[in-house]
Amino acid sequence: MEGVELLKELSEAFGLSGYEGDVADILKKHFGSRVTVSHDRIGSVIARKDGTSERPKIMFSAHMDEIGFMVKDITKEGFIKFLPIGGWWPGNVPGMKVWIRTSKGSLVPGVVGLKPIHELTPEEKKKLPDVKDMYIDVGVTKGFDPREKLGVRPGDPVVPAGTYERMANGDLLMGKAWDDRVGCALLVSLLDNLKDVKHPNTVYLVGSVQEEVGLRGARTSAFAVEPDIGFALDVSICRDTPGNESDAGEKLGGGAGILVYDSTMIPHVKLRNYVCDLAEANKIPYHLASIKGGYDTGTIHLTKYGVPCLALGVPTRYIHSGASVISLEDYNNILKLITLIVKNFNDDMLQKILE
Ligand SMILES: [Zn+2]
Repeated sequence: MEGVELLKELSEAFGLSGYEGDVADILKKHFGSRVTVSHDRIGSVIARKDGTSERPKIMFSAHMDEIGFMVKDITKEGFIKFLPIGGWWPGNVPGMKVWIRTSKGSLVPGVVGLKPIHELTPEEKKKLPDVKDMYIDVGVTKGFDPREKLGVRPGDPVVPAGTYERMANGDLLMGKAWDDRVGCALLVSLLDNLKDVKHPNTVYLVGSVQEEVGLRGARTSAFAVEPDIGFALDVSICRDTPGNESDAGEKLGGGAGILVYDSTMIPHVKLRNYVCDLAEANKIPYHLASIKGGYDTGTIHLTKYGVPCLALGVPTRYIHSGASVISLEDYNNILKLITLIVKNFNDDMLQKILE
């Protein structure tokens, strides 16, 4: 399957934290019989691809969940009150089109509503809106009760209703949930690249659950895998837009983002240097990135006696909003880099890193 088709399919999939089943099915469909698939007990997908040696075990983790909302309550008029799931900035929420998956299984479109702007007081206009004042309107009129008509009930998951678009600049792709479906796509593309490759290790491709609410599936998956080294494949932040300029290379077209810092882990320095050297030796563009958020490696690196870990990011604009933008060129560069890691990382290198 061509890379962009895979990215489209994964971006458009419905998968709020705790409701990742559709994404898990897509991953398993593309993995096919090339791997041995198992699960942790909360829904993560763990695919094992054998090489010529059992060790080292290399774990690549990409989270299947996306941020969204959960139905909390329904007013007597039929408007849906909701809980934010994952890190939302309230300014990004009003006016957003959403999909609710109802307890009956159907997808219902809606829009996030808030008091009309013309009726806000000057004091209210100065403040950020509060999610508590927002609601989802699924097309409510008098006598249309979404509980009865649609089967909406508390706990039903809600995600942004974003469709995938290839932008006017053909290298850029816009879609919802690049965080972290772009990482999920990398798991599949990596497996494609390993066709007929004899790699001196065992590779674990993990689609983790509930990253956005606390790196939960990565923790349980790492317990199951017991990796020797681990990588998060995720998004990193672009700082190439107005009001946000930086010379650090964190931009679309900046190549592989190699995280030097996030708020859940300081990466293993020798592993980080190994990956930077590998990129340089093979002329793969990369940049050093940082983020005030976390990655799956935040829990993986604390497994048992500790696991050398590194997070790799696809530079992304507008993460944690209804639509974000990535570059296909960056995707392919990260793919090259992780393919090289798998082809090269053997037990000698593991021992050197652990010295
Ligand atoms: Zn993420």
